[in-house]
Amino acid sequence: ATHEETLGFQTEVKQLLHLMIHSLYSNREIFLRELISNAADACDKLRYEALDNDALYGSDSDLRIEIEHDTKAGTVTVRDNGIGMSRDEVIRNLGTIAKSGTAEFLKQLSGEQQKDAKLIGQFGVGFYSGFIVADEVTVRTRRADAEEGVEWRSKGEGEFTIADIDKAERGTEIILHLKKDAKEFADDFRLRNLVRKYSDHIEVPVRMPKTETAKDDEGNEVEGSEVTTWETVNEAQALWVRPKSEVSDDEYKAFYKHIAHDFSDPLTWSHNKVEGKLEYTSLLYVPGRAPFDLYERDGSRGVRLYVQRVFIMDDAEQFLPLYLRFVKGVVDTKDLSLNVSRELLQKDPQVDKMKSALTKRALDMLKKLAKDKEGYQAFWNAFGSVLKEGPAEDYANRDKIADLLRFSTTYTDTTVQDQSLADYVSRMKEGQQKIYYIIADSFNAAKHSPHLEIFRKKGVEVLLLHDRIDEWLMSHLTEYDGKSLADVAKGNLDLGDIEGEEEKQAQEVTAKAKEDLVKRVKEALGDEVQEVRVTHRLTDSPACVVLSEHDMGFQMRRIMEAAGQ
Ligand code: ADP
Ligand code: MG
Repeated sequence: ATHEETLGFQTEVKQLLHLMIHSLYSNREIFLRELISNAADACDKLRYEALDNDALYGSDSDLRIEIEHDTKAGTVTVRDNGIGMSRDEVIRNLGTIAKSGTAEFLKQLSGEQQKDAKLIGQFGVGFYSGFIVADEVTVRTRRADAEEGVEWRSKGEGEFTIADIDKAERGTEIILHLKKDAKEFADDFRLRNLVRKYSDHIEVPVRMPKTETAKDDEGNEVEGSEVTTWETVNEAQALWVRPKSEVSDDEYKAFYKHIAHDFSDPLTWSHNKVEGKLEYTSLLYVPGRAPFDLYERDGSRGVRLYVQRVFIMDDAEQFLPLYLRFVKGVVDTKDLSLNVSRELLQKDPQVDKMKSALTKRALDMLKKLAKDKEGYQAFWNAFGSVLKEGPAEDYANRDKIADLLRFSTTYTDTTVQDQSLADYVSRMKEGQQKIYYIIADSFNAAKHSPHLEIFRKKGVEVLLLHDRIDEWLMSHLTEYDGKSLADVAKGNLDLGDIEGEEEKQAQEVTAKAKEDLVKRVKEALGDEVQEVRVTHRLTDSPACVVLSEHDMGFQMRRIMEAAGQ
Protein backbone atom coordinates (compact mmCIF):
# COMPACT_ATOMS: atom_id res chain seq x y z
CA ALA A 1 0.00 0.00 0.00
CA THR A 2 1.26 3.45 -0.86
CA HIS A 3 0.32 7.02 -0.13
CA GLU A 4 -1.00 5.98 3.26
CA GLU A 5 -2.43 8.57 5.65
CA THR A 6 -4.51 8.61 8.79
CA LEU A 7 -7.30 11.16 9.02
CA GLY A 8 -9.76 12.11 11.77
CA PHE A 9 -13.50 11.72 11.36
CA GLN A 10 -15.58 14.87 11.26
CA THR A 11 -16.97 15.58 14.76
CA GLU A 12 -20.52 14.72 13.75
CA VAL A 13 -19.42 11.31 12.51
CA LYS A 14 -17.88 10.56 15.87
CA GLN A 15 -21.06 11.59 17.63
CA LEU A 16 -23.22 9.59 15.27
CA LEU A 17 -21.06 6.49 15.56
CA HIS A 18 -21.24 6.67 19.31
CA LEU A 19 -25.01 7.16 19.38
CA MET A 20 -25.63 4.50 16.77
CA ILE A 21 -23.64 1.78 18.44
CA HIS A 22 -25.58 2.33 21.65
CA SER A 23 -29.06 3.00 20.37
CA LEU A 24 -29.28 0.44 17.58
CA TYR A 25 -27.98 -2.53 19.51
CA SER A 26 -31.28 -4.38 19.44
CA ASN A 27 -31.67 -3.69 15.71
CA ARG A 28 -28.16 -4.53 14.72
CA GLU A 29 -29.04 -6.84 11.84
CA ILE A 30 -29.98 -3.75 9.80
CA PHE A 31 -26.28 -3.26 8.96
CA LEU A 32 -26.75 -5.76 6.15
CA ARG A 33 -29.73 -3.93 4.72
CA GLU A 34 -27.72 -0.70 4.70
CA LEU A 35 -24.66 -2.19 3.02
CA ILE A 36 -26.76 -3.95 0.36
CA SER A 37 -28.72 -0.76 -0.19
CA ASN A 38 -25.47 1.12 -0.86
CA ALA A 39 -24.18 -1.64 -3.13
CA ALA A 40 -27.41 -1.53 -5.14
CA ASP A 41 -27.16 2.27 -5.41
CA ALA A 42 -23.58 1.87 -6.67
CA CYS A 43 -24.80 -0.52 -9.40
CA ASP A 44 -27.56 1.92 -10.35
CA LYS A 45 -24.99 4.69 -10.64
CA LEU A 46 -22.72 2.63 -12.84
CA ARG A 47 -25.58 1.74 -15.16
CA TYR A 48 -26.42 5.43 -15.40
CA GLU A 49 -22.88 6.64 -16.08
CA ALA A 50 -22.41 3.86 -18.62
CA LEU A 51 -25.30 5.25 -20.68
CA ASP A 52 -22.85 7.57 -22.35
CA ASN A 53 -19.68 5.68 -21.58
CA ASP A 54 -20.15 2.03 -22.34
CA ALA A 55 -16.46 1.38 -21.65
CA LEU A 56 -17.13 1.59 -17.93
CA TYR A 57 -18.46 -1.95 -18.02
CA GLY A 58 -15.16 -3.28 -19.25
CA SER A 59 -15.63 -6.97 -19.81
CA ASP A 60 -18.07 -7.34 -16.94
CA SER A 61 -21.57 -6.05 -17.54
CA ASP A 62 -23.48 -8.31 -15.17
CA LEU A 63 -24.08 -6.09 -12.20
CA ARG A 64 -24.29 -7.99 -8.95
CA ILE A 65 -23.80 -8.00 -5.22
CA GLU A 66 -21.99 -10.82 -3.44
CA ILE A 67 -22.07 -11.73 0.22
CA GLU A 68 -19.52 -14.02 1.78
CA HIS A 69 -18.56 -14.95 5.29
CA ASP A 70 -15.72 -16.68 7.07
CA THR A 71 -16.85 -18.26 10.29
CA LYS A 72 -13.34 -18.94 11.53
CA ALA A 73 -12.05 -15.45 10.89
CA GLY A 74 -15.34 -13.91 12.03
CA THR A 75 -15.84 -11.74 8.96
CA VAL A 76 -18.70 -10.85 6.63
CA THR A 77 -17.94 -9.35 3.22
CA VAL A 78 -20.33 -7.39 1.01
CA ARG A 79 -19.04 -6.86 -2.51
CA ASP A 80 -20.44 -5.08 -5.56
CA ASN A 81 -19.22 -4.38 -9.08
CA GLY A 82 -20.86 -0.97 -9.19
CA ILE A 83 -19.40 2.47 -9.68
CA GLY A 84 -16.81 2.35 -6.87
CA MET A 85 -15.22 5.39 -5.25
CA SER A 86 -12.18 7.55 -5.88
CA ARG A 87 -9.86 8.49 -3.04
CA ASP A 88 -11.57 11.86 -2.62
CA GLU A 89 -14.98 10.25 -2.63
CA VAL A 90 -13.94 7.78 0.02
CA ILE A 91 -12.71 10.58 2.27
CA ARG A 92 -15.89 12.58 1.75
CA ASN A 93 -18.41 9.73 1.94
CA LEU A 94 -16.83 7.65 4.67
CA GLY A 95 -15.39 10.43 6.79
CA THR A 96 -18.06 13.12 6.96
CA ILE A 97 -21.81 13.57 7.04
CA ALA A 98 -22.67 15.91 4.25
CA LYS A 99 -26.29 16.64 5.14
CA SER A 100 -26.70 20.18 6.36
CA GLY A 101 -28.23 20.68 9.76
CA THR A 102 -26.85 17.44 11.14
CA ALA A 103 -24.58 19.01 13.70
CA GLU A 104 -27.33 21.19 15.16
CA PHE A 105 -29.73 18.28 15.20
CA LEU A 106 -27.30 16.06 17.06
CA LYS A 107 -26.61 18.77 19.62
CA GLN A 108 -30.30 19.18 20.34
CA LEU A 109 -30.90 15.55 21.21
CA SER A 110 -31.46 14.97 24.89
CA GLY A 111 -30.01 11.97 26.72
CA GLU A 112 -33.25 10.03 26.40
CA GLN A 113 -33.64 10.88 22.72
CA GLN A 114 -30.12 9.67 22.03
CA LYS A 115 -31.25 6.19 22.93
CA ASP A 116 -34.15 6.37 20.51
CA ALA A 117 -33.27 4.24 17.52
CA LYS A 118 -35.84 5.95 15.34
CA LEU A 119 -34.37 9.39 15.91
CA ILE A 120 -30.91 8.24 15.01
CA GLY A 121 -32.44 6.37 12.10
CA GLN A 122 -33.55 9.65 10.56
CA PHE A 123 -30.08 10.12 9.19
CA GLY A 124 -30.36 6.97 7.21
CA VAL A 125 -27.87 5.14 9.41
CA GLY A 126 -26.14 3.98 6.27
CA PHE A 127 -22.56 2.86 5.96
CA TYR A 128 -21.62 3.64 9.55
CA SER A 129 -24.07 1.00 10.78
CA GLY A 130 -21.35 -1.55 10.01
CA PHE A 131 -19.76 -0.51 13.29
CA ILE A 132 -22.74 -1.77 15.26
CA VAL A 133 -21.49 -5.30 14.62
CA ALA A 134 -17.85 -4.79 13.67
CA ASP A 135 -14.89 -3.51 15.64
CA GLU A 136 -12.99 -2.98 12.45
CA VAL A 137 -14.18 -2.27 8.91
CA THR A 138 -12.08 -2.47 5.75
CA VAL A 139 -13.31 -0.97 2.49
CA ARG A 140 -11.53 -1.78 -0.76
CA THR A 141 -12.80 0.10 -3.75
CA ARG A 142 -11.94 1.16 -7.28
CA ARG A 143 -13.91 3.64 -9.29
CA ALA A 144 -14.98 2.23 -12.66
CA ASP A 145 -13.07 4.96 -14.52
CA ALA A 146 -9.89 4.86 -12.42
CA GLU A 147 -6.71 2.79 -12.48
CA GLU A 148 -5.86 2.96 -8.79
CA GLY A 149 -7.86 1.39 -6.02
CA VAL A 150 -8.23 2.71 -2.48
CA GLU A 151 -8.33 0.99 0.86
CA TRP A 152 -10.04 2.53 3.89
CA ARG A 153 -9.70 1.03 7.33
CA SER A 154 -11.11 2.07 10.67
CA LYS A 155 -11.95 0.82 14.12
CA GLY A 156 -14.77 3.35 14.27
CA GLU A 157 -13.16 5.31 17.05
CA GLY A 158 -11.75 8.67 16.05
CA GLU A 159 -9.91 8.10 12.82
CA PHE A 160 -9.49 6.12 9.64
CA THR A 161 -6.51 5.15 7.49
CA ILE A 162 -6.53 5.39 3.73
CA ALA A 163 -4.05 4.08 1.17
CA ASP A 164 -3.75 3.39 -2.56
CA ILE A 165 -3.94 -0.25 -3.55
CA ASP A 166 -4.08 -2.42 -6.64
CA LYS A 167 -7.54 -3.74 -7.25
CA ALA A 168 -8.34 -5.68 -10.38
CA GLU A 169 -12.15 -5.57 -10.32
CA ARG A 170 -14.04 -2.30 -10.24
CA GLY A 171 -16.50 -1.65 -7.43
CA THR A 172 -16.45 -1.91 -3.69
CA GLU A 173 -15.79 -4.61 -1.16
CA ILE A 174 -16.63 -4.07 2.50
CA ILE A 175 -15.18 -6.42 5.07
CA LEU A 176 -16.64 -6.40 8.55
CA HIS A 177 -14.48 -7.84 11.30
CA LEU A 178 -17.23 -8.88 13.66
CA LYS A 179 -17.20 -8.03 17.35
CA LYS A 180 -17.01 -10.92 19.78
CA ASP A 181 -20.72 -10.73 20.55
CA ALA A 182 -21.72 -10.44 16.88
CA LYS A 183 -20.03 -13.54 15.48
CA GLU A 184 -23.48 -15.06 14.94
CA PHE A 185 -23.70 -13.07 11.70
CA ALA A 186 -20.87 -15.07 10.11
CA ASP A 187 -23.38 -17.77 9.34
CA ASP A 188 -24.79 -18.90 6.03
CA PHE A 189 -28.34 -19.52 7.20
CA ARG A 190 -28.56 -16.25 9.11
CA LEU A 191 -27.23 -14.20 6.19
CA ARG A 192 -29.55 -15.81 3.66
CA ASN A 193 -32.55 -15.03 5.84
CA LEU A 194 -31.49 -11.43 6.24
CA VAL A 195 -30.96 -10.99 2.51
CA ARG A 196 -34.46 -12.28 1.82
CA LYS A 197 -35.94 -10.21 4.58
CA TYR A 198 -34.38 -6.92 3.51
CA SER A 199 -33.34 -7.14 -0.10
CA ASP A 200 -35.90 -9.08 -2.12
CA HIS A 201 -37.08 -5.88 -3.75
CA ILE A 202 -33.62 -4.90 -4.99
CA GLU A 203 -33.27 -5.42 -8.71
CA VAL A 204 -29.61 -6.32 -8.63
CA PRO A 205 -29.05 -10.00 -7.84
CA VAL A 206 -27.58 -10.64 -4.41
CA ARG A 207 -25.51 -13.82 -4.60
CA MET A 208 -24.06 -16.10 -1.99
CA PRO A 209 -21.72 -19.04 -2.44
CA LYS A 210 -23.24 -22.48 -2.24
CA THR A 211 -21.06 -25.49 -1.72
CA GLU A 212 -22.21 -28.91 -2.85
CA THR A 213 -20.46 -32.14 -2.20
CA ALA A 214 -20.88 -35.21 -4.35
CA LYS A 215 -22.13 -38.34 -2.60
CA ASP A 216 -21.21 -41.92 -3.32
CA ASP A 217 -23.66 -44.79 -3.73
CA GLU A 218 -23.94 -45.24 0.00
CA GLY A 219 -24.75 -41.57 0.54
CA ASN A 220 -21.37 -40.63 1.99
CA GLU A 221 -19.70 -37.39 1.00
CA VAL A 222 -16.88 -37.83 -1.43
CA GLU A 223 -13.78 -36.13 -0.10
CA GLY A 224 -12.38 -33.36 -2.28
CA SER A 225 -15.52 -33.19 -4.43
CA GLU A 226 -16.82 -29.85 -3.11
CA VAL A 227 -18.02 -27.53 -5.83
CA THR A 228 -18.89 -23.95 -4.97
CA THR A 229 -21.30 -22.02 -7.16
CA TRP A 230 -22.92 -18.64 -6.78
CA GLU A 231 -26.59 -18.71 -5.99
CA THR A 232 -28.91 -15.70 -6.28
CA VAL A 233 -30.68 -15.35 -2.96
CA ASN A 234 -33.06 -12.42 -3.47
CA GLU A 235 -36.01 -12.05 -5.79
CA ALA A 236 -33.97 -9.56 -7.85
CA GLN A 237 -36.83 -7.81 -9.55
CA ALA A 238 -37.60 -4.10 -9.32
CA LEU A 239 -40.50 -3.92 -6.92
CA TRP A 240 -42.54 -1.28 -8.73
CA VAL A 241 -42.57 -3.36 -11.91
CA ARG A 242 -44.39 -6.21 -10.18
CA PRO A 243 -48.20 -6.26 -10.06
CA LYS A 244 -49.64 -4.82 -6.86
CA SER A 245 -51.33 -8.05 -5.97
CA GLU A 246 -47.99 -9.83 -5.79
CA VAL A 247 -46.23 -7.43 -3.49
CA SER A 248 -46.65 -7.88 0.25
CA ASP A 249 -46.89 -5.03 2.74
CA ASP A 250 -43.55 -6.04 4.22
CA GLU A 251 -41.93 -5.78 0.81
CA TYR A 252 -43.41 -2.33 0.26
CA LYS A 253 -42.08 -1.26 3.64
CA ALA A 254 -38.61 -2.68 3.03
CA PHE A 255 -38.44 -0.94 -0.33
CA TYR A 256 -39.43 2.33 1.29
CA LYS A 257 -36.51 2.08 3.71
CA HIS A 258 -34.14 1.53 0.81
CA ILE A 259 -35.24 4.50 -1.28
CA ALA A 260 -36.04 6.93 1.53
CA HIS A 261 -32.95 6.07 3.59
CA ASP A 262 -35.38 5.95 6.49
CA PHE A 263 -35.42 3.69 9.47
CA SER A 264 -39.14 3.74 10.32
CA ASP A 265 -42.09 2.32 8.43
CA PRO A 266 -44.08 4.53 6.07
CA LEU A 267 -47.68 5.43 6.99
CA THR A 268 -49.12 4.50 3.62
CA TRP A 269 -48.28 4.17 -0.07
CA SER A 270 -49.87 4.28 -3.50
CA HIS A 271 -48.64 2.17 -6.40
CA ASN A 272 -49.92 2.92 -9.88
CA LYS A 273 -49.24 1.99 -13.43
CA VAL A 274 -50.46 4.47 -16.02
CA GLU A 275 -50.81 3.70 -19.69
CA GLY A 276 -52.00 5.92 -22.49
CA LYS A 277 -50.65 9.25 -23.63
CA LEU A 278 -48.25 9.30 -20.72
CA GLU A 279 -46.73 6.04 -19.65
CA TYR A 280 -45.29 5.72 -16.23
CA THR A 281 -45.34 3.75 -13.01
CA SER A 282 -45.30 5.55 -9.72
CA LEU A 283 -44.94 4.33 -6.18
CA LEU A 284 -45.44 7.11 -3.64
CA TYR A 285 -45.06 6.89 0.13
CA VAL A 286 -46.04 9.02 3.11
CA PRO A 287 -43.26 8.70 5.71
CA GLY A 288 -44.11 8.05 9.34
CA ARG A 289 -42.12 10.93 10.69
CA ALA A 290 -40.64 14.23 9.58
CA PRO A 291 -36.97 14.20 8.55
CA PHE A 292 -34.88 16.65 10.51
CA ASP A 293 -34.19 18.72 7.41
CA LEU A 294 -37.82 19.19 6.34
CA TYR A 295 -37.48 22.95 6.63
CA GLU A 296 -33.90 23.24 5.38
CA ARG A 297 -33.63 25.06 2.11
CA ASP A 298 -31.45 22.30 0.68
CA GLY A 299 -33.16 19.41 2.48
CA SER A 300 -33.69 16.38 0.30
CA ARG A 301 -37.02 16.19 -1.50
CA GLY A 302 -38.55 14.74 -4.61
CA VAL A 303 -38.76 11.28 -6.07
CA ARG A 304 -36.26 8.78 -7.35
CA LEU A 305 -36.43 8.89 -11.14
CA TYR A 306 -35.99 5.91 -13.44
CA VAL A 307 -36.34 5.86 -17.20
CA GLN A 308 -37.28 2.40 -18.41
CA ARG A 309 -35.92 0.87 -15.21
CA VAL A 310 -32.58 2.66 -15.47
CA PHE A 311 -31.89 4.78 -12.42
CA ILE A 312 -31.49 8.41 -13.46
CA MET A 313 -31.41 10.50 -10.29
CA ASP A 314 -32.38 10.82 -6.68
CA ASP A 315 -34.36 13.79 -5.41
CA ALA A 316 -36.01 14.72 -8.73
CA GLU A 317 -37.93 17.73 -7.41
CA GLN A 318 -39.83 18.50 -10.58
CA PHE A 319 -42.44 15.78 -10.11
CA LEU A 320 -44.16 17.10 -7.02
CA PRO A 321 -44.99 20.57 -5.70
CA LEU A 322 -43.05 21.90 -2.73
CA TYR A 323 -45.95 21.51 -0.32
CA LEU A 324 -45.79 17.74 -0.92
CA ARG A 325 -42.04 17.61 -0.39
CA PHE A 326 -42.44 15.02 2.36
CA VAL A 327 -43.71 12.43 -0.15
CA LYS A 328 -41.06 9.87 -1.09
CA GLY A 329 -41.13 7.39 -3.93
CA VAL A 330 -40.20 6.25 -7.38
CA VAL A 331 -41.31 7.31 -10.83
CA ASP A 332 -40.36 5.16 -13.80
CA THR A 333 -41.31 6.36 -17.25
CA LYS A 334 -40.84 5.68 -20.94
CA ASP A 335 -41.62 9.25 -21.86
CA LEU A 336 -38.29 10.81 -21.01
CA SER A 337 -34.97 10.30 -22.66
CA LEU A 338 -32.28 8.35 -20.85
CA ASN A 339 -29.96 11.31 -20.90
CA VAL A 340 -32.40 13.70 -19.31
CA SER A 341 -30.79 16.14 -16.86
CA ARG A 342 -32.17 18.31 -14.07
CA GLU A 343 -32.10 21.28 -16.43
CA LEU A 344 -34.02 19.40 -19.11
CA LEU A 345 -36.58 18.22 -16.58
CA GLN A 346 -37.44 21.81 -15.81
CA LYS A 347 -38.37 22.53 -19.39
CA ASP A 348 -40.07 19.31 -20.37
CA PRO A 349 -43.86 19.63 -20.80
CA GLN A 350 -44.23 15.88 -20.16
CA VAL A 351 -42.79 16.42 -16.72
CA ASP A 352 -45.42 19.07 -15.98
CA LYS A 353 -48.15 16.64 -16.95
CA MET A 354 -46.70 13.95 -14.75
CA LYS A 355 -46.36 16.45 -11.93
CA SER A 356 -50.02 17.30 -12.00
CA ALA A 357 -51.00 13.63 -12.22
CA LEU A 358 -48.70 12.70 -9.35
CA THR A 359 -49.98 15.61 -7.27
CA LYS A 360 -53.50 14.25 -7.65
CA ARG A 361 -52.29 10.77 -6.69
CA ALA A 362 -50.56 12.10 -3.61
CA LEU A 363 -53.63 14.08 -2.54
CA ASP A 364 -55.85 11.04 -3.10
CA MET A 365 -53.47 8.94 -1.06
CA LEU A 366 -53.82 11.43 1.81
CA LYS A 367 -57.58 11.47 1.42
CA LYS A 368 -57.62 7.71 1.82
CA LEU A 369 -55.28 7.91 4.78
CA ALA A 370 -57.67 10.41 6.39
CA LYS A 371 -60.16 7.59 6.90
CA ASP A 372 -57.73 6.10 9.40
CA LYS A 373 -57.96 8.59 12.24
CA GLU A 374 -54.84 7.56 14.09
CA GLY A 375 -52.69 7.27 10.97
CA TYR A 376 -53.88 10.59 9.65
CA GLN A 377 -53.20 12.31 12.95
CA ALA A 378 -49.62 10.99 12.86
CA PHE A 379 -49.33 12.36 9.33
CA TRP A 380 -50.83 15.70 10.30
CA ASN A 381 -48.61 16.15 13.34
CA ALA A 382 -45.52 15.51 11.24
CA PHE A 383 -46.40 17.30 8.00
CA GLY A 384 -49.55 19.39 8.54
CA SER A 385 -47.71 22.67 8.53
CA VAL A 386 -46.08 21.78 5.21
CA LEU A 387 -49.40 20.87 3.64
CA LYS A 388 -50.68 24.26 4.77
CA GLU A 389 -48.40 25.81 2.14
CA GLY A 390 -50.64 24.11 -0.42
CA PRO A 391 -53.47 26.57 -1.09
CA ALA A 392 -50.93 29.30 -1.86
CA GLU A 393 -48.79 27.15 -4.13
CA ASP A 394 -51.45 25.11 -5.87
CA TYR A 395 -54.57 27.15 -6.50
CA ALA A 396 -56.10 24.52 -8.78
CA ASN A 397 -56.16 21.90 -6.02
CA ARG A 398 -57.05 24.18 -3.15
CA ASP A 399 -60.45 22.55 -2.51
CA LYS A 400 -58.86 19.13 -2.22
CA ILE A 401 -56.18 20.50 0.05
CA ALA A 402 -58.76 22.32 2.17
CA ASP A 403 -60.48 19.01 2.83
CA LEU A 404 -57.21 17.63 4.16
CA LEU A 405 -56.53 20.44 6.65
CA ARG A 406 -57.01 19.91 10.36
CA PHE A 407 -57.44 22.53 13.07
CA SER A 408 -57.79 23.20 16.75
CA THR A 409 -61.15 24.83 17.41
CA THR A 410 -63.24 26.18 20.27
CA TYR A 411 -65.35 23.03 19.87
CA THR A 412 -62.60 20.76 21.19
CA ASP A 413 -60.52 23.47 22.91
CA THR A 414 -57.35 21.36 22.77
CA THR A 415 -54.04 21.96 21.03
CA VAL A 416 -54.51 18.81 18.97
CA GLN A 417 -55.27 19.81 15.40
CA ASP A 418 -57.84 17.21 14.45
CA GLN A 419 -60.95 19.00 13.20
CA SER A 420 -61.61 19.34 9.48
CA LEU A 421 -63.46 22.18 7.80
CA ALA A 422 -66.20 19.69 6.98
CA ASP A 423 -66.50 18.92 10.71
CA TYR A 424 -66.83 22.65 11.36
CA VAL A 425 -69.45 23.16 8.67
CA SER A 426 -71.53 20.28 10.00
CA ARG A 427 -71.73 22.10 13.32
CA MET A 428 -72.53 25.57 11.99
CA LYS A 429 -75.39 27.43 13.67
CA GLU A 430 -78.58 28.10 11.85
CA GLY A 431 -78.15 31.35 9.96
CA GLN A 432 -74.34 31.24 10.23
CA GLN A 433 -72.82 32.11 6.88
CA LYS A 434 -69.11 32.25 7.60
CA ILE A 435 -66.39 30.08 8.98
CA TYR A 436 -64.73 32.02 11.77
CA TYR A 437 -61.13 31.82 12.82
CA ILE A 438 -58.62 33.59 14.99
CA ILE A 439 -54.84 33.68 14.53
CA ALA A 440 -52.49 34.09 17.48
CA ASP A 441 -48.92 33.30 18.47
CA SER A 442 -49.80 30.34 20.61
CA PHE A 443 -52.69 28.07 21.26
CA ASN A 444 -53.32 29.69 24.64
CA ALA A 445 -53.24 33.19 23.22
CA ALA A 446 -55.83 32.12 20.65
CA LYS A 447 -57.97 30.24 23.12
CA HIS A 448 -58.11 33.11 25.61
CA SER A 449 -58.44 35.95 23.14
CA PRO A 450 -61.06 38.55 24.09
CA HIS A 451 -62.22 38.42 20.48
CA LEU A 452 -63.80 35.07 21.22
CA GLU A 453 -66.04 36.27 24.03
CA ILE A 454 -69.10 36.94 21.92
CA PHE A 455 -68.62 33.72 19.95
CA ARG A 456 -68.38 31.61 23.04
CA LYS A 457 -71.45 33.33 24.45
CA LYS A 458 -73.45 32.58 21.33
CA GLY A 459 -72.02 29.08 20.94
CA VAL A 460 -70.47 29.84 17.55
CA GLU A 461 -67.38 27.76 16.84
CA VAL A 462 -64.08 29.46 15.96
CA LEU A 463 -60.94 27.84 14.51
CA LEU A 464 -57.95 28.47 16.76
CA LEU A 465 -54.93 29.02 14.52
CA HIS A 466 -51.47 29.29 16.01
CA ASP A 467 -48.93 27.95 13.49
CA ARG A 468 -46.44 30.34 11.92
CA ILE A 469 -47.80 29.47 8.51
CA ASP A 470 -51.47 30.04 9.38
CA GLU A 471 -51.76 33.64 8.29
CA TRP A 472 -50.19 32.78 4.96
CA LEU A 473 -52.61 29.88 4.64
CA MET A 474 -55.65 31.97 5.44
CA SER A 475 -54.70 34.69 3.00
CA HIS A 476 -55.05 32.05 0.26
CA LEU A 477 -57.93 30.07 1.64
CA THR A 478 -60.83 32.45 1.45
CA GLU A 479 -63.66 30.04 0.88
CA TYR A 480 -64.71 26.53 1.73
CA ASP A 481 -67.88 24.75 0.64
CA GLY A 482 -69.33 28.06 -0.55
CA LYS A 483 -68.70 29.76 2.80
CA SER A 484 -66.21 32.53 3.27
CA LEU A 485 -63.63 32.39 6.02
CA ALA A 486 -63.56 35.35 8.38
CA ASP A 487 -60.92 36.49 10.85
CA VAL A 488 -62.75 37.44 14.05
CA ALA A 489 -60.06 39.97 14.89
CA LYS A 490 -60.39 41.94 11.69
CA GLY A 491 -62.83 44.53 10.44
CA ASN A 492 -66.46 44.87 11.36
CA LEU A 493 -67.84 41.94 13.23
CA ASP A 494 -70.76 40.54 11.30
CA LEU A 495 -72.42 37.54 12.80
CA GLY A 496 -74.87 37.38 9.91
CA ASP A 497 -78.26 36.01 10.68
CA ILE A 498 -77.17 34.43 13.93
CA GLU A 499 -78.16 37.67 15.60
CA GLY A 500 -81.79 38.59 15.59
CA GLU A 501 -83.15 41.96 14.47
CA GLU A 502 -83.76 42.99 18.06
CA GLU A 503 -80.16 42.46 19.04
CA LYS A 504 -78.96 44.49 16.10
CA GLN A 505 -81.23 47.38 16.98
CA ALA A 506 -80.14 47.27 20.59
CA GLN A 507 -76.54 47.53 19.44
CA GLU A 508 -77.28 50.53 17.32
CA VAL A 509 -78.95 52.26 20.24
CA THR A 510 -75.90 51.61 22.43
CA ALA A 511 -73.59 52.88 19.73
CA LYS A 512 -75.56 56.14 19.51
CA ALA A 513 -75.53 56.58 23.26
CA LYS A 514 -71.75 56.17 23.43
CA GLU A 515 -70.85 58.51 20.57
CA ASP A 516 -69.41 61.02 23.01
CA LEU A 517 -67.17 58.49 24.71
CA VAL A 518 -65.93 57.24 21.38
CA LYS A 519 -65.00 60.77 20.36
CA ARG A 520 -63.01 61.35 23.53
CA VAL A 521 -61.15 58.06 23.27
CA LYS A 522 -60.29 58.80 19.68
CA GLU A 523 -58.93 62.23 20.60
CA ALA A 524 -56.86 60.72 23.38
CA LEU A 525 -55.30 58.07 21.11
CA GLY A 526 -54.82 60.43 18.16
CA ASP A 527 -52.81 58.96 15.30
CA GLU A 528 -52.22 55.70 17.10
CA VAL A 529 -55.50 54.35 15.78
CA GLN A 530 -57.50 54.59 12.61
CA GLU A 531 -60.89 54.40 14.20
CA VAL A 532 -62.66 53.82 17.51
CA ARG A 533 -65.92 51.89 17.56
CA VAL A 534 -68.47 50.64 20.05
CA THR A 535 -68.42 46.89 19.83
CA HIS A 536 -70.41 43.91 20.89
CA ARG A 537 -67.46 41.59 20.39
CA LEU A 538 -66.69 41.69 24.07
CA THR A 539 -68.70 40.42 26.96
CA ASP A 540 -66.10 40.59 29.75
CA SER A 541 -63.15 42.69 28.58
CA PRO A 542 -63.62 46.48 28.32
CA ALA A 543 -61.75 47.02 25.02
CA CYS A 544 -59.64 45.32 22.36
CA VAL A 545 -57.50 46.19 19.37
CA VAL A 546 -58.86 45.22 15.97
CA LEU A 547 -57.15 45.26 12.60
CA SER A 548 -58.99 46.67 9.65
CA GLU A 549 -60.17 44.24 7.01
CA HIS A 550 -57.16 44.54 4.72
CA ASP A 551 -54.38 45.05 7.24
CA MET A 552 -51.50 42.69 7.47
CA GLY A 553 -51.96 40.39 10.45
CA PHE A 554 -49.81 40.39 13.56
CA GLN A 555 -47.91 37.27 12.53
CA MET A 556 -47.04 38.63 9.10
CA ARG A 557 -45.96 41.92 10.64
CA ARG A 558 -43.61 40.13 12.95
CA ILE A 559 -42.16 38.07 10.09
CA MET A 560 -41.64 41.22 8.03
CA GLU A 561 -40.05 42.98 11.00
CA ALA A 562 -37.73 40.07 11.61
CA ALA A 563 -36.73 40.22 7.95
CA GLY A 564 -35.80 43.88 8.47
CA GLN A 565 -38.72 45.38 6.56
P1 ADP B 1 -26.56 7.24 1.85
O1 ADP B 1 -26.67 5.87 1.24
O2 ADP B 1 -27.81 7.65 2.54
O3 ADP B 1 -26.04 8.28 0.90
P2 ADP B 1 -24.51 6.00 3.42
O4 ADP B 1 -23.91 6.34 4.74
O5 ADP B 1 -25.19 4.69 3.32
O6 ADP B 1 -25.49 7.16 3.05
O7 ADP B 1 -23.38 6.06 2.33
C1 ADP B 1 -22.62 7.24 2.20
C2 ADP B 1 -22.09 7.38 0.80
O8 ADP B 1 -20.98 6.52 0.60
C3 ADP B 1 -23.06 7.02 -0.31
O9 ADP B 1 -23.89 8.11 -0.63
C4 ADP B 1 -22.11 6.66 -1.44
O10 ADP B 1 -21.70 7.83 -2.12
C5 ADP B 1 -20.91 6.08 -0.73
N1 ADP B 1 -20.96 4.61 -0.73
C6 ADP B 1 -21.29 3.80 0.29
N2 ADP B 1 -21.24 2.51 -0.07
C7 ADP B 1 -20.83 2.50 -1.38
C8 ADP B 1 -20.59 1.47 -2.35
N3 ADP B 1 -20.75 0.18 -2.06
N4 ADP B 1 -20.19 1.86 -3.58
C9 ADP B 1 -20.02 3.16 -3.89
N5 ADP B 1 -20.24 4.16 -3.04
C10 ADP B 1 -20.66 3.85 -1.78
MG1 MG C 1 -27.01 4.13 2.24
